[in-house]
Amino acid sequence: KDFASRHDFIEWLKKVLSEKGVKIKKRLSQTFLIDLNELKYIATTIKNEAVNTPCIIEIGAGIGNLSIFLALENSDKVVVSIEIDKQFTDFLKELQDDFPNIDFIIGDAKLILNSIRDCNAVVGNLPYHITSQLLVTIAKGNADIALVTVQKEVAERIISKPGSRNYGKLTVFLQHLFHVKYLKTISLNKFYPKPEVHSAVVILKRKRVYDDFSKLFENVVKCLFSFRRKVISKALTKCLDGNVVEYFNGLKEVWGKRVYQLSVEELEKIVYTLAKQKS
Ligand code: SAM
Repeated sequence: KDFASRHDFIEWLKKVLSEKGVKIKKRLSQTFLIDLNELKYIATTIKNEAVNTPCIIEIGAGIGNLSIFLALENSDKVVVSIEIDKQFTDFLKELQDDFPNIDFIIGDAKLILNSIRDCNAVVGNLPYHITSQLLVTIAKGNADIALVTVQKEVAERIISKPGSRNYGKLTVFLQHLFHVKYLKTISLNKFYPKPEVHSAVVILKRKRVYDDFSKLFENVVKCLFSFRRKVISKALTKCLDGNVVEYFNGLKEVWGKRVYQLSVEELEKIVYTLAKQKS
């Protein structure tokens, strides 16, 4: 459908939503990307990045606006779109008639995501209220590529560097498992209803799978960052419940640093030393 202006598009969307009796739910972070160029950008980027997968998982299909673009640009793949809100079932069923390579699942992405086998790519304009939880779920699954639209502030957290204000346990956990890159900002004007803040598209490319080492890493990092401004030796003593200095003779170069100043590699080295002591 061609629209003369953004205003026309919004008016049309409002009409369709009201005809279908859809009530937009803020508590489920329902805001729809209505800029056709941005939708196409996301669909073509995942097409170029997700080459070795027969399917792409979309988190939070909503009215299927992004699903359509994903299906069109990735016609050789199945797009598995997960949506929690049953009120979109009719919308999504209708789309399926026109786009047979879309497969919809009504359910909670947090619970379903990692049970979908053989899909190595995840995409989505993530519901803002559970962004961190979803990112952690993606990280623990088998996705090699994740192309996600998140609040700009979360994107800045994901890509932040040691020593910065945004650097925290989510940053470290994701950068342990992925190469991360900030791709672009999407203005809040490009969504309906308009959210309060701008968004950004971030790509995560798998570096390593989540294994027993990553699990230990995750737990230690979680504890260390609850003492983010403490010197690492002190934070470790608290987290490991005892005097740890003797274990870390080989790590003297990081001893004077504060937790938030340690790079992902330095934290990995610390946890690796700890894992060796344990085994
Ligand atoms: N895909 C649309 C787009 O790109 O414009 C809608 C994105 S909107 C920001 C997020 C969507 O995620 C909403 O449709 C919301 O109902 C859905 N959602 C919220 N929590 C969810 C969950 N736990 N599992 C699956 N979908 C969820």
